[in-house]
Order: sequence, then C-alpha cells, then structure tokens
Amino acid sequence: AKVNGRNQLCFYTPAMSRDLVRRREIEAELRAAIIKNELSIFFQPIVDLETGKIRTFEALVRWFHPQKGELKPDEFIPVAEETGVIVTLGNWITAQAAKACAAWPEDVTLAVNLSPMQIKAPGAALGILTALRDAGLAPSRLELEVTESLFLDDNHATNSFIEELSAAGVRFALDDFGTGYSSLSYIHKYPFKKIKVDRSFVSGPNVGRKSDAIIRAVAELGTTLEMEIVAEGLETVEQVKAVREAGCTLGQGYYFSRAVPDYLAAMLLAQEREG
Ligand code: C2E
Ligand code: CA
Ligand code: CA
Ligand code: CA
Repeated sequence: AKVNGRNQLCFYTPAMSRDLVRRREIEAELRAAIIKNELSIFFQPIVDLETGKIRTFEALVRWFHPQKGELKPDEFIPVAEETGVIVTLGNWITAQAAKACAAWPEDVTLAVNLSPMQIKAPGAALGILTALRDAGLAPSRLELEVTESLFLDDNHATNSFIEELSAAGVRFALDDFGTGYSSLSYIHKYPFKKIKVDRSFVSGPNVGRKSDAIIRAVAELGTTLEMEIVAEGLETVEQVKAVREAGCTLGQGYYFSRAVPDYLAAMLLAQEREG
C-alpha cells in the first residue's frame, strides 16, 4: 500500500489493477480449461549420456487455448500457483502422466514437477499415491522434481510429504539447481536421488570457465553421494560432449528431443528398442 496525494491509503495503481484483471481472467479460464480438455501433457526425454538411451520422461504441461493458441507453462503456472488452482491442476497432471507412463517399458521412469503449494495442501502425499494406484504405476517409477524455493519456509508439511513418499518408494530430484538459494544443506537434509543443473550453466551468455567448474564440482558431489546429475538445456553436440566430460550422467534438451505428445514418446521408446 502507498499513501496518495490526499493522504489516503491506496492499494491499486492502474497498472496493478490491469494485471489483477488479467490474472483473474487466466484463473477462471484455467479452471474451465481442465474441464474443457484444453490442457495436455507433453513428455521430454532425459537421456543416459553413456548409452544414449531414454531413462526418464519429464511431464510438461501445455495449454492449447482456443483463441490465444499454445500457452507455455511460464505464462500460466505462476498464476495457478498464486491462486491455488495449481492443486487441482497438479493432481490432474500427475494422474494423466502416470497413466501414460504405465504403458511404457518398466525401466522407463516418469518425472513430474511439483509446486510448493501442492506439497503443502492437506492430503498431498496420499493424493499422489492414489493417482499412482489408479494408474497402476509402481511408486518407484515416479520422480518428483522440486526446486529450492520449497525449502525457504522449512515447515513440517514439506518434511512429512517427502518422508511419506520416500518411504513408499517415490524419488525426488532437485530441479533448476544453481538458480535459487542453492544450499548444500538441502542436499544434506533430504534424500535427493538426482540433481538437475539449470540450463543457464550449459548454454547462454554466461557459460564459460566458471560455469564449467561449477558443473564439475556438482558432478563430483553426485559421484560421491551417489546422486545422478542431469544437465538441462542441451542444444548442441558440443554441449553434450562438455557436460559428459564434466561428469554428468544424464542429459536433457532440444539436442535429444523437445517435449512431445504421449504417442510420440511411446514411439521414441519403441524405436530405440527395435534398433
Ligand atoms: P523446468 O521444470 O525447468 O522444465 C524445463 C523447461 O525447459 C521446459 O519448458 C522445457 O521445454 C525447456 N527446455 C528443455 N530443453 C530445452 C533446451 O534445450 N533449450 C531450451 N531453451 N529450453 C529447453 P516449459 O515446458 O515451457 O516449462 C517451463 C517451466 O514450467 C518448467 O521448468 C516448470 O518449472 C514449469 N512447469 C512445466 N510443467 C509443469 C507442471 O506440470 N507442473 C508444475 N508445477 N510446473 C510445471
Ligand atoms: Ca523440471
Ligand atoms: Ca529445470
Ligand atoms: Ca524451471
């Protein structure tokens, strides 16, 4: 709030209220979109850098809006988080993705992104286990990607969520590592099986000797602590070679494939198993 000319409290500026109206609009549309089937889940492979085989597919949500066209998650996930719609949306995403994964070969796993609010919702862990059971997917085939922002307010709900699901066999990956409030204490405290090094360390203007040294250090940590290290955002063969050389065991990025619909994901798996 700020004080305006007449010394009154004023909570809105025109720009703020426009933004608010837009958010309200997206919120209402998003709730309807789930019902109207405008959302779908795409899958991007995470590849073993040693063998070149697909080990995991990461579920990434897409919104095909009848007027606005394809909307990227960065345009609506933040609104879904702020408004709480993410809980309903997240449950739907997990259920859909689990169904797709249940049709893949058993050694292929599924990665799903989780927002902090989803974890703090009551019954969150049970909801995920129920979705897995309904899809007929073993908990050990699910990996939940969380970011460091989850631990900013280190609360009881987060701890029991992670404990409950880990006990059931679900695995956790630390996403976008290096961009947030990176702290080794999270790696120490929680049972992460995987660290995903953010793509800003792999490609872009800031990549160089320093980012390479950071990737190497994280990869070495991974070897010592028996965690897999994923390099995100690999677009060129040079980048693939560099991160492999630096010690990353897994890679993800447009060099291998963009996120694709479930039938194409199944086709990629069938192809590599044929030849
Ligand atoms: P993220 O989890 O870091 O996902 C990776 C993003 O990087 C995806 O964007 C993916 O398409 C993009 N990407 C992959 N390879 C490359 C590459 O080689 N180059 C470049 N430039 N980009 C690449 P997307 O699908 O737009 O998702 C953006 C973010 O939205 C995700 O970041 C994640 O934080 C969030 N998100 C997506 N789906 C979900 C979901 O189902 N639930 C939640 N809670 N968040 C989601
Ligand atoms: Ca992710
Ligand atoms: Ca990421
Ligand atoms: Ca991200």
